[in-house]
Amino acid sequence: MRFIETRGNDGKKPSSVQFSEAILSPSASYGGLYVPQDLPDLDQDFLEKHLSSHYKTLALDFLDRFGIDIEKEVLEAAVNRYDGFDDPQNPVPVVPIEEDCFVSELYHGQTRAFKDMALQPFGYILSKLAQQREENYLIMAATSGDTGPATLETFKNQPNIKVACLYPDGGTSDVQRLQMVTEDAENLKVIGVKGNFDDTQHALKELLASEDFKEELEARGIKLSAANSVNFGRIIFQIIYHIHSYLELVRQKTVQMGEKVYMVVPSGNFGNALGAYYAKKAGLPIEKILIASNINNVLADWINTGIYDISGRTLVLTESPAMDILKSSNIERVMFDKFGAQRTGELMEELNKTNKFQLTSDELASLQEDFAATFSNDEEGEAVIAAYAQKGYIMDPHTATCLKAYKTLREKKIPTILYSTAEWTKFSTTVAKALGHAVTNDVEALRWISEHAKVKVPSMITALFTKPVVHDIIVEKKDIKGEMLNFL
Ligand SMILES: *Cc1c(COP(=O)(O)O)cnc(C)c1O
Repeated sequence: MRFIETRGNDGKKPSSVQFSEAILSPSASYGGLYVPQDLPDLDQDFLEKHLSSHYKTLALDFLDRFGIDIEKEVLEAAVNRYDGFDDPQNPVPVVPIEEDCFVSELYHGQTRAFKDMALQPFGYILSKLAQQREENYLIMAATSGDTGPATLETFKNQPNIKVACLYPDGGTSDVQRLQMVTEDAENLKVIGVKGNFDDTQHALKELLASEDFKEELEARGIKLSAANSVNFGRIIFQIIYHIHSYLELVRQKTVQMGEKVYMVVPSGNFGNALGAYYAKKAGLPIEKILIASNINNVLADWINTGIYDISGRTLVLTESPAMDILKSSNIERVMFDKFGAQRTGELMEELNKTNKFQLTSDELASLQEDFAATFSNDEEGEAVIAAYAQKGYIMDPHTATCLKAYKTLREKKIPTILYSTAEWTKFSTTVAKALGHAVTNDVEALRWISEHAKVKVPSMITALFTKPVVHDIIVEKKDIKGEMLNFL
């Protein structure tokens, strides 16, 4: 399988690349992204065959159908990372919360957010490739709280990779911050930045664009890569759990093989939703993908009106911070798939120039064949958390946005899978508030919820509060470069 570019080829880069190339250097011509030329076929045979197989077997067979240029042994070792999940036999439990509604829990990995699903195997593969080529890579991440911990965790002590992670000081939960600042390995650097997430992201962009920083990296023989979901190496692993979740419903005898289901995805950068779209296109029986946003509802507007407009918007901080995004990278891959490279290039250029673009009515109709969308505000999210806690199910604020989509967007009463993207323990003060116990720190919130709702706090969360802090640097934006050079 070869990978091509969403905005066409500029004549300087190769017009198609192998998977390894696409993940080591993920930026394509004209600022575009890499996409597979084709998708493997998820026919009934494939699905039937995997009804009785382990998650890892499903993953390896799917990757095999994709035909990527990574050796089998490397892929095997990569998916063995799922052994570090709560239940290695079933890393992604799918549990009922309504008669026709099931939660696919993607958060049972090392850092308790769904980022582990892809970053765990991806991190192994990237490091292996770097070793084989005797190259050194730097991964830089600005995080609002979930990408940071998962990126540090997957790359810690991995040869030929260094990771620097910037987070907004005071802008994450205690648990998220501790997950980063206690992560002890030579190849990791964590820097708190004075400012909010926007400032942090901006500081990172400036640093990456600065000529002298590039020269410093070159002088040290370090190349830059990326571990966010612009990297297809993450997306490929985000197709697999959609297949698994469907198969779980067949195993549980909720649907018969071939019957369609809805999937509800709480979305930010649209990587998770894109994985569902590729699965649908490859033949998984999905009726429609329902997108849940928070009040930064640019995605919901786009899917409902065809207009993507961030010109009059400022980012609003919400209780579902991993979805606080205005520029959602992966819609570009959907547009490429539907409208081709030339049109995608046009639309993305329009967005860069004017901060908006508009689909034609035919294009919108095509988008709506696969997607529908809605959004919730924080009060609605809290009400959902409280209502399901009453029934004995504790969910995090990102997962909570899915319920409105489930209740209002379905045209057919068919089984529905909601994706739970984080464990409640990462957002415990919000959950405690929703349950009527407002506190300001995570220790108190975790203790209270655990007692009140009789749910366990996993040991990796409890352990954070006694681990030594190894990254205690908090700097002004202007001092980031100096810290980075020290580290390198
Ligand atoms: C990253 C994240 C999301 C958004 O996922 P995308 O693939 O970027 O749309 C949603 N919820 C949580 C908890 C996350 O960490």
